[in-house]
Amino acid sequence: MSFLRACFVAFLACVAVYEPCVRAWSKEGHAMTCKIAQDLLEPEARHAVQMLLPDYAKGDLSSLCVWPDQVRHWYKYRWTSPLHFIDTPDQACNFKYQRDCHDPKGVKDMCVAGAIRNFTEQLSHYHHGSSDRRYNMTEALLFLAHFMGDIHQPMHVGFTSDQGGNAVELRWFRHKSNLHHVWDREIILTAAADYYGKDINLLQQHIQGNFTHGIWSSDLATWRKCSHISSCVNKYAAESLEMACKWGYKGVESGDTLSDDYFNSRLPVVMKRIAQGGVRLAMILNRVLAGDSLEMDETLAAT
Ligand SMILES: [Zn+2]
Repeated sequence: MSFLRACFVAFLACVAVYEPCVRAWSKEGHAMTCKIAQDLLEPEARHAVQMLLPDYAKGDLSSLCVWPDQVRHWYKYRWTSPLHFIDTPDQACNFKYQRDCHDPKGVKDMCVAGAIRNFTEQLSHYHHGSSDRRYNMTEALLFLAHFMGDIHQPMHVGFTSDQGGNAVELRWFRHKSNLHHVWDREIILTAAADYYGKDINLLQQHIQGNFTHGIWSSDLATWRKCSHISSCVNKYAAESLEMACKWGYKGVESGDTLSDDYFNSRLPVVMKRIAQGGVRLAMILNRVLAGDSLEMDETLAAT
């Protein structure tokens, strides 16, 4: 397929299902999640990640963490597009909603929770000598790293009716934005500009300091707790939905202007979710790349 045709098909795909083409932590959010994770890798997993990364990544997982967003509308990877989020009905904030993992056509396990289970299972074959040729282990690593970021971004478990906040158009201080983008990027960039001299690395170091010796250090063991991958991803999604209700949507309507109050009260939530995504990604990699199956259901092997 020619490049132009591929672009056209990708464009049609976005239009046909009315799916917003911007739906993910920003590259900054994903990079921080992956840097935090890579710093927490134990020798065996650290070595495996180095072996799986292509040479041009120069050993830096964070340089490729946004790759699944870059390829999701390419013809070859279009099937991965629904894997970046979970569809949630509007009433979800009013009662304990049991999320159903499926894509817009109803295909089971085609959501971010199913994707994390699937790619974790694929990666667990690495320990057996990476001889299972059904899987591309490098892609499995990059997808898992990316989706662990996405599932921790509360608006990725936002409502189907407003496309996870993408359809809630508003102003972020003086410029036009939307609620999803506020959580993907605006809060992170405003924090970097206001408190860290526009240096994202300093923001990341602050986040890391909070769990190594700061306010979240006693929470680390709880964050890492995971005996079965299915229940763990369900927990991460439930946390995100709760935060989307309590902090994302609450008090916000289309046409609003969000500024200092919203920013100051939500920044700690964004920082915590990036920290949790990184810590838990490291936990999964440390375990599956060292031979712990995380008690995966074998029937989830192929997607
Ligand atoms: Zn994504």
